[in-house]
Amino acid sequence: MESKKIKMSQDADDLKETLNDVDDGDSSLNTLTEEDIQKLISSSKEAMKYAYCEYSNFRVGAALLAEDGSIFTGCNIENVSYSLTTCAERTAIFKAVSEGHRKFKAIAISSEVKDSFTYPCGACRQVMIEFGQYDVYVSRPDSAWQHTTTQELIPHFFSKKALRSVQKAKIQN
Ligand SMILES: [Zn+2]
Repeated sequence: MESKKIKMSQDADDLKETLNDVDDGDSSLNTLTEEDIQKLISSSKEAMKYAYCEYSNFRVGAALLAEDGSIFTGCNIENVSYSLTTCAERTAIFKAVSEGHRKFKAIAISSEVKDSFTYPCGACRQVMIEFGQYDVYVSRPDSAWQHTTTQELIPHFFSKKALRSVQKAKIQN
């Protein structure tokens, strides 16, 4: 049990550093109203319509709420060279960051799967936590949703702290 405690504390340190790096400010979570959640889900469903998924036919939409209230949407964009495919979540995040936004309140994700909730893939979870902790709402076509957070989705994420400790050691050598 003791080794588990140490691990958890390291994760907390990593997250704290990530949050500090992006100047997070208020990191309180699940503060959106039901109306705001539905609005974000609705935006993600709208984005899903633009999915370019002729190989998988699996449509995904994402809507990212920036701290200033603006919403950036994304869809999955597939490629004939399969590995070049990009997910909806990353499309939305890259759009936002490329327009100067780095602080986010929440992201909503929608798919056409009716009997379960579609959660982000591993790559997207790592990209999501790069910008700190925020709410994640995964929704079904009937608009039912589940709440989680970026940290809950990837508790043992690869952090800047690991990179920096190596860089520091190299400078010292
Ligand atoms: Zn993904």
